[in-house]
Amino acid sequence: MRTWLEINLNNIEHNLSQIEKLTNKKVIPVIKANAYGLGSIEIAKYLSNKNYDLYAVANFNEALEIKESGINIKTLIMGNNDAHDLKLAIENGFSVTISSWDDIKNLENTPDSTNSLIHIKVDTGMGRIGFSPDDIEGVIQNIKNNSLGTIEGIYSHLSSADDNEDDFTLSQINQFSKYENNKNIQFRHILNTPGIFKYYKNTNTNFVRPGISMYGVLLFDSPLKNILKPVFKLKTKIIYLKKLQKETFISYGKTESGKKGDIIATLPIGYADGLDRRFSNGGTVKILDQECKIIGRVCMDMTMIVIPESIKDRVKIGTEVDIYDEEIQTAAEKIGTIADELMTRINKRVQRRYV
Ligand SMILES: *Cc1c(COP(=O)(O)O)cnc(C)c1O
Repeated sequence: MRTWLEINLNNIEHNLSQIEKLTNKKVIPVIKANAYGLGSIEIAKYLSNKNYDLYAVANFNEALEIKESGINIKTLIMGNNDAHDLKLAIENGFSVTISSWDDIKNLENTPDSTNSLIHIKVDTGMGRIGFSPDDIEGVIQNIKNNSLGTIEGIYSHLSSADDNEDDFTLSQINQFSKYENNKNIQFRHILNTPGIFKYYKNTNTNFVRPGISMYGVLLFDSPLKNILKPVFKLKTKIIYLKKLQKETFISYGKTESGKKGDIIATLPIGYADGLDRRFSNGGTVKILDQECKIIGRVCMDMTMIVIPESIKDRVKIGTEVDIYDEEIQTAAEKIGTIADELMTRINKRVQRRYV
């Protein structure tokens, strides 16, 4: 295997417990999108005997995949379910998000709805899914009067906590404060990663929903970053090396050429593995802690780099190359995206190795 993703499960647990210590709230580990690309089954399996009360995924299929692998955890589906998925989610015992009057109607039409485990979603400013705060009293009454299930959670989502939008974020938290002490509801939660790291003192909720931070990454600078340990590394090995005898075009489209004497290495990783094509002509990878520049276009299955003078005598076929690590946000910013996108696009073809 020449391109692989190394995942340190202990460090995930470490990060979750650091977050619990920092916030004095319990975590709902977010393992949606295949645990941000790192492997939801393996991670859920590892965490399943560590006493977390609830885990969060995005949709019914993600919850089902985990359940069908024989892992026994309590799972919240954070996305909106259509009538069909809602029924199946309830049958399977998953906790569901109820975020609109259409959802309430679908609950009414679900035969088993009395067994449903409901988290009510409040839209405090994200503008994605969720009831307006003005509707919440009526929603709670409606669920109770019609025996539509147990309200075990109420939550909201922050839209801009990583963008230094203090006033806006505090207004979101403030709108949610009405519910944060409601002891009749077991799970009360609003903070995602930037909320956890910047606003944990501003809310009395009893749970938080860390995603990217449990995997060791923050999208913003924070002195608290040092409580997190790195969790993953995307790695490959040099499979081909050449010294250019003259100036030579490298890769598709002749967009760049190497100079006479340059040492060019070919790596068995391309955009089909998740190395974003926008890193063509200028992205970097690391060998022996030295930055090496990607030359020419990233191909589907291979990518070429220039070996810097300083390490040219120490590099051979089989030398390990670091593609992404916990500094992935720096790489992401170079191409106008965020770490989450790069992580979730690491393809199935890349072997996951758990340590
Ligand atoms: C993805 C997601 C999270 C986790 O967000 P991070 O910023 O990665 O911690 C939390 N809550 C909801 C509703 C989400 O969709």
